[in-house]
Amino acid sequence: MKHMMQTNITSPADVKANLRHVQSRIAAAAARARRNPADITLVAVTKSGTLEQIGELLQAGCRSFGESRVQQLQSRAADLRSMLEKSGPKLAVPDAAALPGAGVPVQWHMIGHLQTNKASAAVTHSHLIHSVDSLRLIELLGDIGVRRGIQVPILLEINTTDDPNKFGMAPSAAFHMAEEVADVPGLKFMGLMTMARHSKNPADARPAFVRLRELFEDIAARKIGGEYFKHLSMGMSGDFEIAIEEGATIVRVGSALFEPCPAAGDPLPATACRTG
Ligand SMILES: *Cc1c(COP(=O)(O)O)cnc(C)c1O
Repeated sequence: MKHMMQTNITSPADVKANLRHVQSRIAAAAARARRNPADITLVAVTKSGTLEQIGELLQAGCRSFGESRVQQLQSRAADLRSMLEKSGPKLAVPDAAALPGAGVPVQWHMIGHLQTNKASAAVTHSHLIHSVDSLRLIELLGDIGVRRGIQVPILLEINTTDDPNKFGMAPSAAFHMAEEVADVPGLKFMGLMTMARHSKNPADARPAFVRLRELFEDIAARKIGGEYFKHLSMGMSGDFEIAIEEGATIVRVGSALFEPCPAAGDPLPATACRTG
């Protein structure tokens, strides 16, 4: 651990190189599954990144960022905006105007457990809320949407590993919750999200991803989802390739982008960023 921290100080992560590596792994996994890599959105989870690193990712073409806490998301988004305004041409984003969101070049994703008292801020500052996990939250976000005259884009989080320590709805409740969401005018129901069990072996994640895809297919087959229901948010640094093989349209990757990669000959175990 001590050694790890020293490495961190002496060799900050080359996030652009990490991004290219993650993108090529996404492309390879998509090819294996005969899928178009353009159908897969990489959300860079910035929990462990610095503002400068987020700026570098933006310059390198990354447009989607994720945070697991609303306050952090809000302050990161504001900091990045002011950095962009101050930096001028150096950080200018050439294709900003062509992106959805009227000149806002970046999209922030709220991926962590959402407390009801933060729901309003989450709606204001995020492009998509991945972590809707209760009827209470469904109703609350729906009310906020109606009051603002918008449809709040959401995913339902499903606890596909039946882990009592994890957030998310029981898979057995998914249909009922999907029906509830579909009936709420202030919501745009865009899909499902899950987290797999943490494991050294990426293959251990597969059953959770298969379970989420099957739930998704069942909901779609019963025509509950509606026209926007097309996303499966699943896969993190340790298992995003497996998730892509099982149909992920959004992968949420943090440490593989922001952790320094051990140099050749480094005694540290290879982290997610240089495997594969
Ligand atoms: C932190 C986090 C991630 C990213 O995890 P890494 O293993 O660092 O890639 C993805 N999803 C959620 C919900 C998270 O909280």
